[in-house]
Amino acid sequence: AATVRSLVASDAIVVAWDANAERRDTFDNEFFDWASGRDWSSFRDGNVNLVLEDLEHLDNLTIDGFDALIVSPGVPLNRHPIAITARAVGTPIIGDIELFAQARADLPPHKVVGITGTNGKSTTTALVHHILQTAGIPSLMGGNIGLPILAQEPLPDGGVYVLELSSYQIDLTFSLDCDVAVLLNITPDHLDRYDGFEGYAASKARLFAMQSKGHAAVIGISDVASAQIARSLSARGEDLTKIAPGVCMDQSRWPSLQGPHNAQNALAAISVCEALGVSNAAIDAGLASFKGLPHRMEQVATRSGVAFVNDSKATNPESTAPALAAFDRIHWIVGGRAKGAELDACRPHFGHVTHVYTIGEAGPVFAELLRGAGLPVSESGTLAQAVADAAANGQAGDTVLLSPASASFDQFRDFEDRGDQFRKLVEALS
Ligand code: ADP
Repeated sequence: AATVRSLVASDAIVVAWDANAERRDTFDNEFFDWASGRDWSSFRDGNVNLVLEDLEHLDNLTIDGFDALIVSPGVPLNRHPIAITARAVGTPIIGDIELFAQARADLPPHKVVGITGTNGKSTTTALVHHILQTAGIPSLMGGNIGLPILAQEPLPDGGVYVLELSSYQIDLTFSLDCDVAVLLNITPDHLDRYDGFEGYAASKARLFAMQSKGHAAVIGISDVASAQIARSLSARGEDLTKIAPGVCMDQSRWPSLQGPHNAQNALAAISVCEALGVSNAAIDAGLASFKGLPHRMEQVATRSGVAFVNDSKATNPESTAPALAAFDRIHWIVGGRAKGAELDACRPHFGHVTHVYTIGEAGPVFAELLRGAGLPVSESGTLAQAVADAAANGQAGDTVLLSPASASFDQFRDFEDRGDQFRKLVEALS
């Protein structure tokens, strides 16, 4: 809706559709009466600048008349009919970040930071934004986090746009020249939408291909694919510098940035802020005062000495691994809609797990796998049962950890809903 609003405001002629009936009604109320009665010819005459069209109808329209097809990053480009049609007729397929990129020339002087990676994007984006604010630099977060970028007021002179970019968003972006581009890591995820791992990695690499020469790239090299991208940039003639941060890297001073994965996120954020010229004192203060994000290793309560930690955001085994590494004597609630049947990334930390509680579709498969690894397992099935079971077993000093290593859609609206329900269940424990 933010995209439609800004396009209409800039006098573009827009044909729009949302497959979600509720959101479609919002459009409807905001712009004009439901437009199903309108036909293509009224749009062509230029009498209206927004038509809401049925997707099936859109399919049959000659979309080669459009300057661009703008899709939400949720639309699978490799198999959605509208994307296939647009490809066939050569209509560019772009997203809201590309519209932002094209509008930059009209904005007051500013910088753009783009942050991608399989894991840690939101944390690093929020951290950079927080450090900039601590330093008194006007900044906003957009992209895959918070409000859509086109829904936000432009920043004053000297502002920094900090954009979290999923690979889907990068796929829809062609001219975003980041002043600082960040790649945290690449591990297998979302492979259903790419031609294998290489296609996924190539999508991330495009963030750097869009940069002009001399603009900064920050790349974590703890995995093979990211290290490969760093090497290919140096083959292109870019200088590679190993970061020696100017600020003290004592992690114990950053309460909301615990665990080895957060050391990576912090180091990336420090590098970004150093590249933007932020003072060491401000970076230091920002790291120490950062509050973290909900649903990411968030300590929600302590009951009779048992800590309850909400890591609902961990939707794949790679994201769960650092949470298992960060605690001892864990009562681990795991399962949901699995992206794969394995938990290999978690395996090195099984020694930290006291008891497993499986939930959701992946429950039975995970239960078998984890019993095979010698762990005691309760097949709780639902989150409510798992919280009850774990609370009954937990001893003072233990941690009950919801870190599902799976998507939430089998039992919840999204990972936030899953985390919120966990918090409520914990709060309801007597
Ligand atoms: P994203 O926005 O990329 O999904 P988040 O910052 O929201 O990442 O973190 C999601 C989960 O991923 C965290 O709960 C944590 O378990 C894991 N994680 C965070 N940062 C990293 C990292 N640098 N490397 C590996 N895993 C990470």
